[in-house]
Amino acid sequence: MLYICLDDINFNNTINELNKEEILQIVNLTKEFKIEDKTSNIVLVLENVEILNSQKNLKKIVKNISKIKKQCLRRKIKIGTQINNQEICLIVKKNIDEINIKTINELNIFINLFQYKSKKEKIEFLYDKACEYLDSMNEKLNYCDFKDDVCISKRKVKKPYHKIIKMGCCYHVNIFSLKKHKLCEYLEDKKCSVQCISCKFFTCADVNIKFKINDILYLKYYFNPIQKLIIKGCVLTPKEKIISLLTLFSI
Ligand code: SF4
Ligand code: SF4
Repeated sequence: MLYICLDDINFNNTINELNKEEILQIVNLTKEFKIEDKTSNIVLVLENVEILNSQKNLKKIVKNISKIKKQCLRRKIKIGTQINNQEICLIVKKNIDEINIKTINELNIFINLFQYKSKKEKIEFLYDKACEYLDSMNEKLNYCDFKDDVCISKRKVKKPYHKIIKMGCCYHVNIFSLKKHKLCEYLEDKKCSVQCISCKFFTCADVNIKFKINDILYLKYYFNPIQKLIIKGCVLTPKEKIISLLTLFSI
């Protein structure tokens, strides 16, 4: 399910069109709401994007989404509606030039959790989305700056070892002997074959960019402190094992 961002005119037109449908309820995420008895499906609306810049407001919105999801599940109400042949769950009014796309994306992912029934499915969905985000940042910012398979940090290692320390963090160095090194067993064709989220979160002291779990809205609000420790700490671990641990420690 998707969200759409619309400018002032298109936003109002779209909302007016939706209002013609009697059983569809529009819920404004920044206001108090009550889901009507006759409602068969709802569409969520955010008509002030600037509100996303405040953590306090964001917390309230997330709380509202959780409340809506619970009620919809209990009363078998569908979230989303068809707009231009697409299933849309959230409509955002683009009333300022600079909109916080990252937060809207993350809010949308959080809303879309309702599609999954079991905790494991929900966790796997969020896990994959976080990995996608971290991979895209890695690709976009190229912070490890690999050249001939040697990353920016390992290029600083004294000669003659700097050239053999290939594949960055996926190369485990024995601190007592640089000769006793090995590549991670999960590295295949120069890529991680096990989608380890903890490795994706890690950046060494030579990289200025640091990723925090609490900077990703759906991780911040869905996972408890123990699960967050698991996400951060399980380096060199396959996805399946991390998902099992996260499911085990769900409340
Ligand atoms: S995080 Fe540091 S050590 Fe790891 S691959 Fe990137 S630059 Fe190299
Ligand atoms: S698990 Fe970590 S160290 Fe191993 S291949 Fe994947 S990213 Fe590299």
